[in-house]
Amino acid sequence: MAIASVNPATGETWKEFSALTEQEIDACIARSDEVFRAHRRDTYAVRAGHMRRVGGLLDAERADVARLMTAEMGKTIAAAEAEVAKCAKLCRFYAERAEGFLAEEPADAAAVGARRAYVRYEPLGPVLAVMPWNFPLWQAMRFAVPALMAGNTGLLKHASNVPQTALYMGDLFTRGGFPEGAFQTLLIGSKQVEHVLSDPRVVAATLTGSEGAGRSIAAIAGRELKKTVLELGGSDPFLVLPSADIEAAAKTATTARTQNNGQSCIAAKRFIVHADVYDAFARAFTANMSALKVGDPTAPGTDVGPLAQEQGVRDVTEQVDDAKAKGARVLCGGERPHGPGWFYPPTIVADLTPDMRMYAEEVFGPVAGLYKVADLDEAITLANATPFGLGANAWTTDDAEQRRCAQELAAGAVFVNGMVTSYPELPFGGIKTSGYGRELAQLGIREFCNAKTVWMG
Ligand code: NAP
Repeated sequence: MAIASVNPATGETWKEFSALTEQEIDACIARSDEVFRAHRRDTYAVRAGHMRRVGGLLDAERADVARLMTAEMGKTIAAAEAEVAKCAKLCRFYAERAEGFLAEEPADAAAVGARRAYVRYEPLGPVLAVMPWNFPLWQAMRFAVPALMAGNTGLLKHASNVPQTALYMGDLFTRGGFPEGAFQTLLIGSKQVEHVLSDPRVVAATLTGSEGAGRSIAAIAGRELKKTVLELGGSDPFLVLPSADIEAAAKTATTARTQNNGQSCIAAKRFIVHADVYDAFARAFTANMSALKVGDPTAPGTDVGPLAQEQGVRDVTEQVDDAKAKGARVLCGGERPHGPGWFYPPTIVADLTPDMRMYAEEVFGPVAGLYKVADLDEAITLANATPFGLGANAWTTDDAEQRRCAQELAAGAVFVNGMVTSYPELPFGGIKTSGYGRELAQLGIREFCNAKTVWMG
């Protein structure tokens, strides 16, 4: 895939880049390794000062960065600005909390015959981050901020369609005060990832992206015996049970499915509704989805912009057409509009059956699958009947049902009467083919640390 900025609203290529050579990559790795030796010895207070300045730069440059992301991958300008603001908050969160998250943890010294015993958390070294285009700043920052606060260095291989956002990040941390080389962007194609990950100086990798990319990184890392964190795809269920506030559920369902033009790993994708409230929910959901304004992502009133890539709009069209051909009912949308750009309308497809692609595959666009179930047992069975396990939403005011959903939904996160979202304060990650490991919060910053046991006699 060419490394280029292509405007998804028009399909026009507006800037192209050459990939780094192997020599250039090796020089970046060498710098990362060298900087690590000094950076790991900086105090948390020094790193926190740098990180607060990075947050300040993001605040000051929010409008420009947002425009860049919108021009490269088509998210609405309001969503882009919110993403930048969230990243600034993340910087302040870890500036404040990293030291406490990684403080030495005393153990029961007497029980192990020691004068003193404890666990200390130490950085590992240069970590490779392979990142996707859908939240081009947030996904990469979600790795970079805790990794740098822990004392690691970072090498970013960003998605090939967001090179300018990647280059912005390549400078950002140095401008905030981190040593030059502590965080670097490598403009490389996916085939060059193996070269980086095989280098003995690169100690670990994190990937956010598709299952195929995850399997490839995990295979290389397995061969090299390196730690990985994988954040992969999802097909999150959204359960609606009879006690739910149907209007509120339908409103949140609409946001949950169409956020980021439908291209979010934690978007609710399968709406599983109890028969008693199915008609009311379907009516409200269809009305809300139909009312969304699709169009120019730079216009302030737009709710849904284009999909980021031509292949993406082709995939979604084929998935919906497959369901239609096999007898599914389209409640709204369902036809790709004519004209330039990679637009697809908010769509609801009902009466899905297991032979249809949408039943089992992730749909990475503003398309909801709607299912009717007889009771909570059937809802949970259907919710869990995919290879994915990222997030799950459940709408019910019944205590017992809430407890069952929290316990029985097979996912890395369950949100009850709300929408699955990532917060710096909460761990984020999946199970099954949605990946492994956690980002954010305390678990996230510890992923790329050596939890070193110290025993002193
Ligand atoms: P993708 O094709 O896997 O791309 C993601 C990144 O991996 C890009 O930098 C890409 O580089 C690289 N890549 C692709 N194939 C690779 C390989 N074989 N070896 C090494 N690197 C490789 O993902 P996408 O389709 O753009 O993104 C959408 C997917 O990401 C969806 O499944 C979505 O659910 C998932 N996602 C998950 C999360 C999460 O937190 N769990 C968050 C966001 C997105 P190139 O661009 O150069 O190909």
